[in-house]
Amino acid sequence: MDLDIPEGHKSGYVNIIGKPNVGKSTLINALIGEKLSIVTPKAQTTRHRILGILNEPQYQIVFSDTPGIIESPKYMLHEMMMKFVHESLTDADVMLYMVDVWDIPGESFPFLKRIIDSGTPLMLVLNKIDESDQEKTVDLIAKWAEIVPEENIIPISALKKFNTQSIIVRSLELLPEAPPYFDKEQYTDKSERFITSEVIREKIFTRTRQEIPYSVEVVVTSFKEEEGIIFIAAEIIANRATQKPILIGRGGETLKRIGTDARKDLEIAFQKKVFLEMFVKVRENWRENKNFLRQFGYDA
Ligand code: GDP
Ligand code: MG
Repeated sequence: MDLDIPEGHKSGYVNIIGKPNVGKSTLINALIGEKLSIVTPKAQTTRHRILGILNEPQYQIVFSDTPGIIESPKYMLHEMMMKFVHESLTDADVMLYMVDVWDIPGESFPFLKRIIDSGTPLMLVLNKIDESDQEKTVDLIAKWAEIVPEENIIPISALKKFNTQSIIVRSLELLPEAPPYFDKEQYTDKSERFITSEVIREKIFTRTRQEIPYSVEVVVTSFKEEEGIIFIAAEIIANRATQKPILIGRGGETLKRIGTDARKDLEIAFQKKVFLEMFVKVRENWRENKNFLRQFGYDA
């Protein structure tokens, strides 16, 4: 027996799934207290599965953020994104199904019935209660309670970090006693390179419009950490040649803005000065190309 692990230590996976835009990534960031997963007002921002690990001497909760459920995948990229969702259905100790106050209980919620039938412990987290009022929220909980036991329904505001602590408390009630899965110093499974590429992608989501955000991937090609500064080079991969001038913008203005936004966030994340260099490349139709998808870290 490992003597470092206290008696009664709890550990396990709490896997967050839900429709796009309900606030899954906002929640995992709020729970871990770090910006792990990018957040934008647009749907389908998250493309990967990202673990956020909460460590205390008595427990280790591994939260997993996933892409929003895509009911009709349009390209191979979407299918790869859904693979992460399916994976998270299979390795959960606890499922956290997120809905928001704009959802109507009783309508169709992909996978919810399947999770209930599977018997995996389930928390139904009702997010964005800051956009509702107390009376409406109580009504909504009563309706959800027809499907999920009331003690497993947790109303929160991920954005305002309101009642998110209840998720931790309930998780600990539902998780088994087990040794930690990860080093207790570790708070994510993702590398600094991955987080960097995601931060850049977030800025592309906010600085460009229409199909552009959904057509772009970011690859960090170089990450050199030195005393007091990090030198980063990244490629922005466009899906079609016509997207390249849009990403660069007149006189390079768009690319410059994306770079400045990203650099500011990265300097906060890494607590160091960052030097960021970016290039736009075209990989014709990469979203449908197995080799490119594999290069970009999808299980194609
Ligand atoms: P995801 O697609 O489920 O990961 O959702 P995100 O975390 O990316 O959030 C989608 C949008 O909802 C963003 O604009 C968030 O700022 C917003 N959002 C997330 N949580 C809350 C919340 O508790 N209240 C409000 N009002 N907005 C929220
Ligand atoms: Mg997300």
